[in-house]
Amino acid sequence: MKRIIIAIDGFSSCGKSTMAKDLAREIGYIYIDSGAMYRAVTLYSLRHHYFNGNEIDADKLQQDMPAIQISFKLNAQQRPETYLNSENVENEIRGMEVSSRVSLIAALPFVREALVRLQQEMGKEKGIVMDGRDIGTTVFPDAEMKVFVTASAEIRAQRRFDELKAKGQPASFEEILQNVKERDYIDQNREVSPLRKADDALLLDNSNLTIAEQKEWLMTQFKRITEEK
Ligand code: C5P
Repeated sequence: MKRIIIAIDGFSSCGKSTMAKDLAREIGYIYIDSGAMYRAVTLYSLRHHYFNGNEIDADKLQQDMPAIQISFKLNAQQRPETYLNSENVENEIRGMEVSSRVSLIAALPFVREALVRLQQEMGKEKGIVMDGRDIGTTVFPDAEMKVFVTASAEIRAQRRFDELKAKGQPASFEEILQNVKERDYIDQNREVSPLRKADDALLLDNSNLTIAEQKEWLMTQFKRITEEK
């Protein structure tokens, strides 16, 4: 069967990565979390004190961009983990400090340019599921299967809250909801590659779907599309 590119875009915390990871495992494709790459650049900027409140010293970050290496490696459970300059930063990039600043980093054109290039390189051989905000519109506009995922802000905040709690990283629900809404706004209104549904993307509102129902829907779409090819 011909291998394709699957682009999964949508709002923050609507379960895109869980869905994309599961689908990739089921069909034997590589999974790439493009948000983790923006998060890794954000962590780098925090560690180098390039933030002053919500201001970022873009000149310094731009100078460093060629030296920022991001990669993914499978752990013992075969789950991909994010590496920043050879250091495993998978846990650190998921915390609130990075979450609350990542949209600012993701709005910088030179950051997007560098990461989009890297993402396109990763998808050269196809057989890939990539999730993010601009995968179907900018990174792989010719992807054979595109899905745009959404769910209400409250449901998404609750999911993020549960996820952090399970990891022992407590945070307040209100703070998370605020963060989800802020990121939606910045992501949809930035100048470069704003978050939007590609015209040819399938819309998936998973507010009231179970994981199993969602998986079944995705597999049906995948089979339909690969059979048509
Ligand atoms: O998917 P995740 O929530 O981890 O992404 C973190 C942030 O990275 C998003 O809020 C968004 O600002 C940015 N992002 C992006 N383009 C992508 C993936 C993520 O702008 N393709």
